[in-house]
Amino acid sequence: MPQASVILSARRAPDELDALEREVLDHLCRRGCDCLVTPPLYHVAEASPLWAILKKRCENAVLLGWLHPRPCEWLLRLRRVDVRSLAIRNLAEFADAAAVVATAVELCKRHGAARDGSPGRAESYAEACAPRWYPLVDEARCTNCQHCLQFCLFGVYEADAAGRTAVRHPDRCKPGCPACARICPHSAIMFPLHERDAAIAGAPGQFTTLDAAARRMYYAHSRQACPRCGARGAAKGRGPLCPECGRPTTGQAPPEAAPPFDDLDELIERLETQMQRRA
Ligand code: SF4
Ligand code: SF4
Repeated sequence: MPQASVILSARRAPDELDALEREVLDHLCRRGCDCLVTPPLYHVAEASPLWAILKKRCENAVLLGWLHPRPCEWLLRLRRVDVRSLAIRNLAEFADAAAVVATAVELCKRHGAARDGSPGRAESYAEACAPRWYPLVDEARCTNCQHCLQFCLFGVYEADAAGRTAVRHPDRCKPGCPACARICPHSAIMFPLHERDAAIAGAPGQFTTLDAAARRMYYAHSRQACPRCGARGAAKGRGPLCPECGRPTTGQAPPEAAPPFDDLDELIERLETQMQRRA
């Protein structure tokens, strides 16, 4: 197989492309880009040979698909694919096929991967993939607080020998449930197929709104000390309820919650958004 300059992660399967995908593929090949069409990467099994292929082909390439770039990047990193020179774009953010093609060709030219004059080649990597649903962790945001590990009742998360929390049993996750994304204090957990909340889906520059009820469940379940009021275990006080853990305080108002993210993280997210808009 030749080097692919564009990788298209299809919405359903390489042999079931929708009209937009077909049009994009057709135009990219005519404009001199070699294209590799894959199944939707999120559903591809960990043991698939496709990851080894992508390890070789993501250098200076453009990845088009239906996920936001951030979860897509962390999915590839999880599979040990080097993403440093890979440009990732979400097809859902373009007005039409012409806009996708213009952006992809421009990116390919920057990488020196688009041929002038001769058409590019289109190839497919076919593999049956059952639909999956599991969390992806943005390790740049994760502080290894282990709230997700203690909250999840289904053993999706585990800590490794070094104590680092990771998604170890993704297929134990309950389809459609994004509960741990709503209790992660650092907005590090993404469910890229979540449709109603763009922050949970990993949209650029967005942070998940914490679910107070789920956070209280977390403290009740894990018996962890509350960082805001200091209470641990059963409630003893008679004061106002702590907004973080829901336990009665000892009478004094709990301190203001610290902002969940530092300014640098937000700045980076904003810059990423602006760069994607300009591309
Ligand atoms: S709750 Fe969030 S920050 Fe804490 S370990 Fe899990 S993913 Fe990381
Ligand atoms: S969504 Fe629910 S089942 Fe899935 S990993 Fe999170 S807490 Fe566990």
